Amino acid sequence: MRYVSTRNSALHLQASEAIVMGLSRDGGLFLPEQIPNLSPAQLEQLSKMNYQQRAVAVMKLFLDEFSEEELAGFAQKAYQSPGKFDHSDVAPLVKMDEKTHIMELWHGPTSAFKDMALQTLPYLLTASLTKTGEEKTVCILVATSGDTGKAALEGFCDVPKTKILVFYPKDGVSDIQKLQMATQAGENVGVCSVVGNFDDAQSGVKQIFSDAQLRAQLEQNGYFLSSANSINWGRVLPQIVYYVSAYCDLLKQGTIKNGDVINICVPTGNFGNILAAYYAKCMGVPLGKLICASNANNVLTDFLKTGIYDRNRPFYNTASPSMDILISSNLERLLYLLSGSDEAVRGYMQSLADTGRYEVSPALKEKIMSVFASGFCDDEKTLKTIADTYQQSGYLMDTHTAVAYAVLADYRAVSGDNTRTVVASTASPFKFCSNVLHALGVEQLEAGTAILDQLTKVTGKAAPAPLAGLKGKQVRFTETAEKEAMPHVVLEMLR
Ligand SMILES: *Cc1c(COP(=O)(O)O)cnc(C)c1O
Repeated sequence: MRYVSTRNSALHLQASEAIVMGLSRDGGLFLPEQIPNLSPAQLEQLSKMNYQQRAVAVMKLFLDEFSEEELAGFAQKAYQSPGKFDHSDVAPLVKMDEKTHIMELWHGPTSAFKDMALQTLPYLLTASLTKTGEEKTVCILVATSGDTGKAALEGFCDVPKTKILVFYPKDGVSDIQKLQMATQAGENVGVCSVVGNFDDAQSGVKQIFSDAQLRAQLEQNGYFLSSANSINWGRVLPQIVYYVSAYCDLLKQGTIKNGDVINICVPTGNFGNILAAYYAKCMGVPLGKLICASNANNVLTDFLKTGIYDRNRPFYNTASPSMDILISSNLERLLYLLSGSDEAVRGYMQSLADTGRYEVSPALKEKIMSVFASGFCDDEKTLKTIADTYQQSGYLMDTHTAVAYAVLADYRAVSGDNTRTVVASTASPFKFCSNVLHALGVEQLEAGTAILDQLTKVTGKAAPAPLAGLKGKQVRFTETAEKEAMPHVVLEMLR
């Protein structure tokens, strides 16, 4: 199967090349030229398999250069349970009522959904390096505002022929997130805080990528730089698996018959997670509406309603920080898939770069609206949703999941569409303790890891082992650098 760029459909690459390059030189994103099909009979077969086997079956359809044996090895290591994941279903479904199920995507080593892809990406990347004949060691550079950095560290920890270096803003992440990164194990990892905010860390990393002299020096030392962010196809692909798997789980339980249509509702930031649901739908999984949920940064939901993408608006820091985004890079893949035109995508992206805005054609807008529904939810309603759901059912959800849950209720009320729906839950409530405690009416918050015990005391629920285990862990990384000194930190690590 060949891969093309969203900005140049004449470019033809192998999957391994697309994964190694990450982003196309023309600024576009890579995607497969065709979308493979899953027949009803294949879905029936998959429903009898476990998560790891389903992952192999789905990924194999997109990666014909990789043997089944190879992929089985990756899936086994990535989704090992017990070990990496604390639930044997990997992405278990929780039934909330007759028509609503929550798919918990946070049973991995960092308690957020980024693990679903970042546990697999290192294997896909290192195997791709071998296939493309690259002999140097890859160093993954990450600027993170929280979840991605830790998930990437866990994913790449002690993976041969890789190093990983994460920069986070010194005062821009929660105590728990900071501790998660500072205590990271592994011989090939580095963590450094940067004086400034997330933008400083991110622009520092971008400067390093474009520093030709530094790259030449690293090359001499036997290294090259790469990134693990969600524009890489190797992060989208493993996410398609859990949408296929959720359908298969409902089939296996007898909750649905093969062919029954279900809806999907996803709390969205960079559009990566919900794009994976769209791929599953295109493959033939009977998915109806894909409901996109935003917080107060509702640039995406506005787009899905009006066909106008306009990032010229205020930025809000919300209670669901992993969705505080004004540029959803993965949307570009959807524009390509639905317009079928690299020329159209180039035009929209040029307009976005020049003016911060673009408007899609009426035909494209109609296609988008036939597949996607959307809505947004502010902080007040997010916290109320956590409290109400907890009181009514005893189910405790994090702020990101609550955004989706609230948007689903609104969608049902307005549309009258009561189709069975799977809601993607993207983080453990213990990862966002302070907001969750706040929602439950607690005002005096404990500091550091004591806040985990506080949430346990209030709810009687246990923190996931990786978070509870932070308490006794030794802090390994305490380095702080000015933004200007970031290249030195890189050179120190890659001598
Ligand atoms: C990254 C993240 C999201 C947003 O996912 P996208 O793929 O960027 O849309 C939502 N919730 C949590 C907890 C996240 O970490």
